Amino acid sequence: MSTVLIIGAGGVGSVTAHKCAINKKVFTKIHLASRTIGKPNAIKKDIKKRWGVDISTHTVDADHAKEVIALIKKTKPDIVINVALPYQDLAIMDACLATHVHYVDMANYEPKDEAHFEYSWQWAYQSRFKKAGIMAVLGAGFDPGVTNAYIAYLNKKYFDSITYVDILDANAGSHDKSFATNFNPEINIREVTQEVKHWNKGKWMKTPPVMHEGSVHFTFDYPVAGPRESYLLFHEEMESLVKHFPSVERMRFWMTFGQNYLTHLRVMESIGISRIDPIDFKGQKIVPMEFLKALLPDPASLAKKYTGKTVIGCIVTGKEKGGRREKTKYIYNVCDHAKCFKEVGSQAISYTAGVPPVIAAMMVLQGAWKGAGVFNVEQLDPEPFLKTLAKNGLTFTVVDRKPLPAKL
Ligand code: NDP
Repeated sequence: MSTVLIIGAGGVGSVTAHKCAINKKVFTKIHLASRTIGKPNAIKKDIKKRWGVDISTHTVDADHAKEVIALIKKTKPDIVINVALPYQDLAIMDACLATHVHYVDMANYEPKDEAHFEYSWQWAYQSRFKKAGIMAVLGAGFDPGVTNAYIAYLNKKYFDSITYVDILDANAGSHDKSFATNFNPEINIREVTQEVKHWNKGKWMKTPPVMHEGSVHFTFDYPVAGPRESYLLFHEEMESLVKHFPSVERMRFWMTFGQNYLTHLRVMESIGISRIDPIDFKGQKIVPMEFLKALLPDPASLAKKYTGKTVIGCIVTGKEKGGRREKTKYIYNVCDHAKCFKEVGSQAISYTAGVPPVIAAMMVLQGAWKGAGVFNVEQLDPEPFLKTLAKNGLTFTVVDRKPLPAKL
């Protein structure tokens, strides 16, 4: 018998709310809050229709800890799932600390005026969460989130230590829009246009952004999806993974991009519409990126016409358990856009991101994950998490394969 408060009712938040309702034996009372009431109410209606479950909806401006504290006092949750935007992470963590409520999120904190994300701001809460005796689970989506658990799982099951990690994320799907992002456009474009970093022998190596000349890419033959051009990208889970697996010598993150997508990114950058600094427009200040977000399709609206699959996984090389030989394993999930739409009315990116925080919350509430403090997913037992995730729509496959070459 637990009460959950979900903050954020976008593409990801909708899936999270549906999955909590499907698991109503664990989440006996569900509260869904967002900046405005329209999206939470639409989700509430759909949940009632599909699952016969009643949820409560609220408005909150989660930029302000005081508002979140008031909502927590009113709804009395056992856990808060933050599926709003990275800008709200610290205010929601402050509110959880003030009210002694567990916390789960999806993406690390990012200041609005700087396209830069890292864990330092949230890791700084470690002693305060410890002292309060509550848990914060950071980055519990798919990547970060399940990818962290995949690496922890392979490490636990097959290896004494791990040396090389490649995380590969393919969206082999198509929709009817000429350009759209699969999650919040502002956060997505900030992430994919930044300078790229990967880990090599104890150092971060820098390479150009994915849409610039000199970006690093290669063709990877994905299971089910086939060969896809995959670009080196910096992704936040690498920061915590290299900290928690210090034996790792090389870690890279790859994501598939089509030429059309990259061309759009180049044009946006060259005309300045993806800038995040305010400009004067007819006597008022506007941020071009915020204006661009308002023009682009809402990622949730892509779901109806989305076909194809996502394939996300990790290739890990290490010293095999109890032996001296080097071994390589590939662990991955395949998710079908149309199937997700049939189940919860969402596309596969929202689905793969929105289910894991529900399972992470379950792990905390049911005691499979215990402890006080701030945790990244790889620090927690991956087995009950991945097992429960598989029962909730996100299965995984492990195969032997060759490592990827050092130079690509
Ligand atoms: P959306 O933009 O679709 O939804 C964001 C939601 O948060 C909206 O309901 C929005 O309300 C609400 N919100 C925004 N600002 C506030 C605020 N100040 N107070 C309260 N609510 C607010 O984003 P997505 O659903 O696509 O993404 C959600 C999060 O998931 C993002 O942080 C994203 O980075 C992360 N993500 C993580 C992934 C992973 O695998 N780890 C993958 C994909 C996404 P309104 O619409 O009224 O503004």
